[in-house]
Amino acid sequence: MPRVPVKLVTWDEIVEWSWKLAKSIEEANYIPDVIIGIARGGLVPARLLCDFLGVENFLSIQSQHWTEAAKASEKALIKFPYTVDLSGMRALVVDDIVDTGDSMILAKRFIESNWRPKEVKLAALQWISSVAKIKPDFYAIEVREWVWFQYPWTRLEDVTQFIKRMLTELCRESGRREWSYSDIVTSFREWYGVEVEDRYYREALRALAKKGVIESRDGTYIVKQC
Ligand code: ADP
Repeated sequence: MPRVPVKLVTWDEIVEWSWKLAKSIEEANYIPDVIIGIARGGLVPARLLCDFLGVENFLSIQSQHWTEAAKASEKALIKFPYTVDLSGMRALVVDDIVDTGDSMILAKRFIESNWRPKEVKLAALQWISSVAKIKPDFYAIEVREWVWFQYPWTRLEDVTQFIKRMLTELCRESGRREWSYSDIVTSFREWYGVEVEDRYYREALRALAKKGVIESRDGTYIVKQC
């Protein structure tokens, strides 16, 4: 059993789920005038929905909550609270996943009070029904048991944070500081239950060395921050 349950998502799955989502929106006879992608996770699904539903008007809003992969920070906030006039329009707000739902709730409230559309509906690829505070109007997949969806647009970011967490936690637990590249890859598979292309591990290790989390010495990685 991996320590953190991870589902490695492919680009093909993104297209399939976005297609399914578009069909459910169409079947409800809902035609949005504007699609709003919650940055950054909602951008690709939102753009695909524009394509599959034939919607030309596209906006984005950045609602931030999760600062580290699979770890919640304190609270969600709107990063650039700019204002546009959406009066008389039906807006569809799109995110990749509704986990706790805080980001979506915040984005919805902000849009309703500041952009003033006629109506706001919510759509997401995944809805984690066991933990979410809200149910989106449209979703492609209902997830009952919490899992970290490793979407293809955050692969490097997630792999970097996953390696960092694994190395620092193991350092704290057992005092281990020295790692070979192949041990890191093996341990990553055990911790997260998935494997990624070699270049992601290598680039992640380079990024962690740059940040001073690890040091690379003659093919060995030394954990500096434990
Ligand atoms: P909250 O931040 O309160 O959980 P969301 O559930 O909307 O609100 O999550 C915000 C963003 O964090 C998501 O759009 C997604 O990019 C990322 N995220 C949250 N939970 C997961 C998860 N289980 N798998 C992958 N990404 C996630």
